[in-house]
Amino acid sequence: MAVGGAALGLNAISPGIWPERPLFGLNRSHWARALPAPNPPPTRDLDADFVVIGGGFTGLSAAYYLRQVLPQAKVVLLEAVRCGNGASARNGAMLQTSTEDTYMEPDVDPVFHRRLYAVTRDNIERIRRLQAVTGVDCELDTRGALQVAFTQRDAQAMPRIAAKLRAAGLPVDDWGAEDVAQALGTRAYHGGLYEPASGQVHPGKLVALWKRAAELSGAEIYEGAAVTAVDEGPRLSLHLANGITARSPHVVLATNVYTSRLGYLRAAVAPIVNHVAITPPLGPSELAALGWSRRIPFNDSRTNVVYAGLTRDNRVHIGGGVEQYEFDDGLADPADHGAALGFLRRELARLYPSLADAPFERSWWGFVDMSVTGASSVGRMGRHGNILYAIGLSGQGVNFTSVLGRVLGDIAAGKERGWSWLPYLNHLPPYVPNEPFRWLGVEAGIGLLSR
Ligand SMILES: Cc1cc2nc3c(=O)[nH]c(=O)nc-3n(C[C@H](O)[C@H](O)[C@H](O)COP(=O)(O)OP(=O)(O)OC[C@H]3O[C@@H](n4cnc5c(N)ncnc54)[C@H](O)[C@@H]3O)c2cc1C
Repeated sequence: MAVGGAALGLNAISPGIWPERPLFGLNRSHWARALPAPNPPPTRDLDADFVVIGGGFTGLSAAYYLRQVLPQAKVVLLEAVRCGNGASARNGAMLQTSTEDTYMEPDVDPVFHRRLYAVTRDNIERIRRLQAVTGVDCELDTRGALQVAFTQRDAQAMPRIAAKLRAAGLPVDDWGAEDVAQALGTRAYHGGLYEPASGQVHPGKLVALWKRAAELSGAEIYEGAAVTAVDEGPRLSLHLANGITARSPHVVLATNVYTSRLGYLRAAVAPIVNHVAITPPLGPSELAALGWSRRIPFNDSRTNVVYAGLTRDNRVHIGGGVEQYEFDDGLADPADHGAALGFLRRELARLYPSLADAPFERSWWGFVDMSVTGASSVGRMGRHGNILYAIGLSGQGVNFTSVLGRVLGDIAAGKERGWSWLPYLNHLPPYVPNEPFRWLGVEAGIGLLSR
């Protein structure tokens, strides 16, 4: 009893003992080389109808959709470093319909599956159309995606999963080991689930696309504009690190794993470190030796999922496998990137022996906003109901973030009823405790799942 009380007490005072620091490590990924030049920060106080905080896919698409649904509204976006500094230009480039977790949970309501699939597939077509509107080619390649079976047991479950998904109207095929080997050029897997509308993008260029779309629609974007504090009220005041204040009746938090640093949603997600590496462009003979004939990106069925893809300029990128958590969300550079890189090196050699000696040209890491269930949340909160948020993409946000950007626009316009079928609407993920319990829980979870 006394121990339980002490634990509750420690959990309550923990944010005072270990206050989170507003750190934003620089994005040194391969994708970041293609990010657009940053806009200057604001030099005087701002007033707007909506202030969006965060210049990743969520914030940029929310700014775009806000202007689409409320064309008279003044929409300002504030990004701490530069657009794409967060997960949006650090990820594994895979653009997925539905979400990976629903692929593996076919018992979920088939009507929900069908709707989610339709929305996510439509979102890919929206991105395709925005390429023409913005003039930004984000290297959208929709030749499908594979979720490959790491074990024989996973492969045995796949026909049943595919049948259920097909019955719900999703065109998912189960492939045998030979089909997978033919398509990917590796015999490391026992089968796979193939979905034809998914694919991949260049994440840095997708950031450029959303930034251009938001600006063309009339949103103002400021970079190098870190918000350090939010004063709530019918009209919110946002204080920036450079002394500027932005005032607005509505704020959109599109701040992903950094959200807790503003004092919000601390208990919704745990930031998990995930690592990625990329080779230089392969020459024609190296490419031929690979045998990745259909150039389909894939992720595997392990809990610590490994994912890989082939870029338009014939680089192989590979990521995942090692998931880490830093005590107190330490967003500083994790010292153990080297160990993760060693794992990715071995994994690449296992999948493609011809690349056993190929160097990595660049490697990086990013933070996944992992919720306990793997599901997102989008909605409205705050004493005055004027703080909108989207969080908990759990490593699957390249496509889905801009669906949530659209939902945020509709919430702002009072049209959220159209999204009431989404279980994520105004429904926060299960509670994640404060330190040290978060660290203990996440480490135990990672250890358990790895085994
Ligand atoms: C290594 C890795 C691999 C991944 N692979 C895939 C994949 O293959 N497919 C997939 O679908 N998803 C993948 N994801 C997940 C996907 O990248 C994310 O879900 C998505 O990018 C989240 O976008 P976001 O805009 O919500 O967050 P972010 O891109 O992180 O943007 C948040 C932004 O807010 C800014 N910000 C935060 N706080 C403040 C503040 N106080 N003031 C001003 N600005 C602030 C940050 O600087 C940042 O730019 C991966 C993620 C990682 C890390």
